[in-house]
Amino acid sequence: MSDPTANAAPGGSRPADLQARAARLDATDELAKLRDRFQLPDGVVYLDGNSLGALPTGVAQRLAEVVTREWGTSLIGSWSDGTWWTAPERIGDKLSPLIGAAPGQTVVGDSTSVNLFKALVGAARLAGPGRTRMLVDAATFPTDGYIAGSAARMTGLTVVPTDPADIPAALGEDTAVVLLNHADYRTGRLHDLPALTRAAHAVGAITVWDLCHSAGALPVGLDAHAVDLAVGCTYKYLNGGPGAPAYLYIAARHQQAFDSPLPGWNGHADPFAMTPDYAPAAGATRGRVGTPDILSMLALESALDAWDGVSIEAVRAKSLALTDFFLECVAAYVPEGAVESVTPAEHAHRASQVSLRTENAREVMAELISRGVVGDFRAPDVLRFGFTPLYVGFADAERAARTLGHIFG
Ligand SMILES: *Cc1c(COP(=O)(O)O)cnc(C)c1O
Repeated sequence: MSDPTANAAPGGSRPADLQARAARLDATDELAKLRDRFQLPDGVVYLDGNSLGALPTGVAQRLAEVVTREWGTSLIGSWSDGTWWTAPERIGDKLSPLIGAAPGQTVVGDSTSVNLFKALVGAARLAGPGRTRMLVDAATFPTDGYIAGSAARMTGLTVVPTDPADIPAALGEDTAVVLLNHADYRTGRLHDLPALTRAAHAVGAITVWDLCHSAGALPVGLDAHAVDLAVGCTYKYLNGGPGAPAYLYIAARHQQAFDSPLPGWNGHADPFAMTPDYAPAAGATRGRVGTPDILSMLALESALDAWDGVSIEAVRAKSLALTDFFLECVAAYVPEGAVESVTPAEHAHRASQVSLRTENAREVMAELISRGVVGDFRAPDVLRFGFTPLYVGFADAERAARTLGHIFG
């Protein structure tokens, strides 16, 4: 180590140079201080916030208060004092700015899978009769495909698995619904939400966007791009906690006609009238089903405080800088040919992760984790690294790449 050039990385950059650059980038990063809003174990580089976001600092105390005071002491009164019953809409409005939605269109509850079911059947009903096809991202996260298959069967549609790049050509007057992921969970490819939504609307189809891998990582602009329906989870980039409730966005212009396939009593116009007939509530509330999971929901509400004063545009800028820098460090440290990025190099097509294809990916990831760099593995051969700008810095990116280099070195 006495001769620094002896330690030169394959790409030519020396670790000392990249480490110095990382330190400079962290020192000038306006978002760096946000890391204090999270509790993270010392010595760990956490690049799996796209699977399970880190724990925001206020959540444990808030949950303890909800359990001991709101549940333990106030008991049933907590339902009626206004904070529990209205939590799905209140928290929906709280996260709405992150997805570019005006208030009143987003309701929190249930899982992403369940909300997808509501959205897809609701979309088929909005599209009306005479249309026969549901175009579904061919590379989708599995649950979306499974749910789409069932929703299509129930509504008399045929699922057509379609590469998002082929959607414009596949669209026709017979298309009822288009289900797309904003970002591909495996490759980190960002799909063109504005253009694909416009194309779908040109033939009168209803769009359903899954935002699981984009919300909290980059601007989504649901209202600005006239998306019809959207769903997403809150335990990835939104840090809501394991199994935190998901959300359903119903654009204001569709709310009156949105006909949920799961018309539970929480979505009723007058739930406590206990009437035998269903009358949907106005607004996004009709997307509710049954009694909300209050503990998870209020944990999410507290977790969203981590976003106070944070602009999603600044998050996007840092995310791109982080993934650029990580790719540069990987090129410098990892022997040529050992890994291949399957994440698009162009910013316009990149979400907030880097996926590297390699042989023995499962074993490589296990080794990385044992060395304190936590990403994840996706079958059959992908190493996934999620970059969450609220708590990941440039030194983390450098160390992750350097550790990967050591494993191959
Ligand atoms: C994470 C993820 C889900 C998760 O669905 P759950 O119902 O919360 O288990 C669904 N779709 C996509 C695209 C995801 O990335």
